[in-house]
Amino acid sequence: MDLTLPHADVAWAGRARAFAENILFPREEELELSGQLPRATKDQLRAAVVAHGFNAINHARDVGGQGCTQLQQTLVNEQLGKATGALWAVAWHPAVPLKHGTPAQIAHYLIPSCLGHRRAAVAITEPDAGSDTGQIRTRADRRGDRYVITGEKWFVTSGDEADYLIVHARVDGAPDKPTLFLVDKSTPGVRVRREPKFMHTYVFGHLELLFEGVEVGDDKILGGVGQGLELTKDWFVEARLQIAANCLGAAIRAFELANDWAGRRVQFGRPIREFQGIEFMLADMATEIMAAKSLIYRVAWEIDHGIDRKVVHARASALKLYASEMAGRVLDRAVQIFGGRGYMRENPVERLYRDVRVDRIWEGTSEIQRVIIGGQLRKRGTGLFTDWPT
Ligand SMILES: Cc1cc2nc3c(=O)[nH]c(=O)nc-3n(C[C@H](O)[C@H](O)[C@H](O)COP(=O)(O)OP(=O)(O)OC[C@H]3O[C@@H](n4cnc5c(N)ncnc54)[C@H](O)[C@@H]3O)c2cc1C
Repeated sequence: MDLTLPHADVAWAGRARAFAENILFPREEELELSGQLPRATKDQLRAAVVAHGFNAINHARDVGGQGCTQLQQTLVNEQLGKATGALWAVAWHPAVPLKHGTPAQIAHYLIPSCLGHRRAAVAITEPDAGSDTGQIRTRADRRGDRYVITGEKWFVTSGDEADYLIVHARVDGAPDKPTLFLVDKSTPGVRVRREPKFMHTYVFGHLELLFEGVEVGDDKILGGVGQGLELTKDWFVEARLQIAANCLGAAIRAFELANDWAGRRVQFGRPIREFQGIEFMLADMATEIMAAKSLIYRVAWEIDHGIDRKVVHARASALKLYASEMAGRVLDRAVQIFGGRGYMRENPVERLYRDVRVDRIWEGTSEIQRVIIGGQLRKRGTGLFTDWPT
């Protein structure tokens, strides 16, 4: 069993680490203290993403992406996940379902998104439809050769930065016709209702959007009427892997900082790491990070080696659950090891502590991941989680 990373993958990780440390970290405090970055800085970051080749790492080269394997994407996301304020989000990952677009949609949406000329935001969640997407009420009513979209979407991440939205709506309100629509934000009837503040500082906004009689043609349907849920499944797998890798990076950065601090901070005449209470925390952090890394790299490798889609879906839930909860525990201990300094916003550990909290909520809460894992256990048995690839 050869677990060594190929040179090309090591190179991706090295470049991503340099990008995080040299381009993203210097922006962290400015973002934290002012709550947002000026337009000019965001534009500089966007240019840096292209210059360093981190745009669309999740798409093929022929549509303007980087053609990375899943493992390479994971290695990059781990490094970028070390940045606070979700600065990793400046390196865009155009939504996976765009691959299923028509040639015209690929030319008009996917390619410009990979190149950084356009940006999408994803609008699925609603006031009464969070974990339970079966409750989605946004509808797209057929009127002649057009669809009229009406509804309300919440938490639309990067909705402020996006120029188009991928909107989940039911055609004619029918539950069996969940469908994705590509809606340009400038279309009449698209309205920003609110941009609430959240626990984390996030480089972009999370908007509440209203769709008031928004008219679009057939050409704006992605993948076909009724395909909405099917298309979002693969997307969730990728998003869960990305979140897990970001969590891993955040945990590693906090661990390194806490480990270093524990060696330098002297109380009662000796470095605090010499107190078993501190050293046991560091030991637990090391162990959990090692376990998460092994799990995440393994599933990324399995995807690259063509493992069955349903198996991947179940394992992506397990790793998102484990990595996000691991990051929460590691960050909590890191804050504790820093004492009062761990509670200061100028300390990356404090910011990461807040940043990783949402990873147990978005792209399926921890409870929903357990629901998925439990369902798979019932359907396929324990081997899905206990077997090793042969
Ligand atoms: C910062 C942020 C950004 C987001 N970005 C986006 C975005 O870009 N696009 C988008 O569409 N959405 C986005 N979301 C929405 C996110 O995906 C939802 O918040 C999430 O799916 C949970 O839905 P909910 O908030 O309605 O909670 P609810 O579904 O109401 O859940 C409340 C609680 O009940 C639990 N629960 C629900 N059902 C079950 C069950 N069957 N078994 C056990 N427990 C259960 C949940 O785990 C949770 O603890 C974002 C959310 C946040 C906070």
